Amino acid sequence: MPRSVRISLFISTMTIAFSFAFASLKQPGTSSASPNTGTSVQSIADSTTSTSPPTTTTTTTTTLPLVQPSPDSPLIGTDGSAPVVSRVPTADRVIFLTIDDGLIRDPEVVAILKREQIPVALFINPGPATDGQAYFRELVDSGLATVDAHTTDHASLRGRSFSEQQARVCSTTDLFTEMFGRRPTLFRPPFGEWDETTRKAAASCGLRAVVMWKGATNDGRIDLQDGSLTPGDIILMHFRLDLAGNLELMIAKARAEGFRFGRLIDYIGGDDDKTI
Ligand SMILES: [Zn+2]
Repeated sequence: MPRSVRISLFISTMTIAFSFAFASLKQPGTSSASPNTGTSVQSIADSTTSTSPPTTTTTTTTTLPLVQPSPDSPLIGTDGSAPVVSRVPTADRVIFLTIDDGLIRDPEVVAILKREQIPVALFINPGPATDGQAYFRELVDSGLATVDAHTTDHASLRGRSFSEQQARVCSTTDLFTEMFGRRPTLFRPPFGEWDETTRKAAASCGLRAVVMWKGATNDGRIDLQDGSLTPGDIILMHFRLDLAGNLELMIAKARAEGFRFGRLIDYIGGDDDKTI
């Protein structure tokens, strides 16, 4: 029998989106400049740290004994433009799994992540997040998953005005704070399409990095831009029917090559008390 799946419509995404569209456009404060030793983070050199918007915590999540950041991990903040990151500058033999969209929610995926204790960063849209709240809450409550921003409607941002981008980028932060007990600090642009305005829009609501990737999985295949896994690689995956198989494949490959799985907010875009 096929796995139980639920598919939500982007119609509901739009409905939720505009309910929250202008509630979260808060301006973060700024503080001192941060050191940066990374070489793989674009546009980071001029970044400064920011104070996150006030967080209303409704859920307590478990802190797992995960890989700890190296002292040379960047302190990423915003100075009006969020940095774009596709590989975390780190000497740790660690990679980061990210899973997008949320349309197909396979229970086997939760089982694998829990069994293997793999942390994941989720970049989902509000429609699937609402329809699948119990599914995503299970992952968040396990301490394995964080939920970050991926726009309201999954439209491409590139070329749009600041106000259009800001509405799409920022309007899920309050919703996800309510739903999952943590204010999003990271942003992934739909289709990986961004421009300089996207970086400014993300920074305007306290999102500390625009997160891209160095590898992706599709239908049992792992595609790595540089041909092999490299410390700090961010891997793009999707909540699709092939996700469970792709996860098993990725986990096996990473472990065979001596990599561990890091939690992205421990390295970039972390809560203030976790960012080194
Ligand atoms: Zn997406």
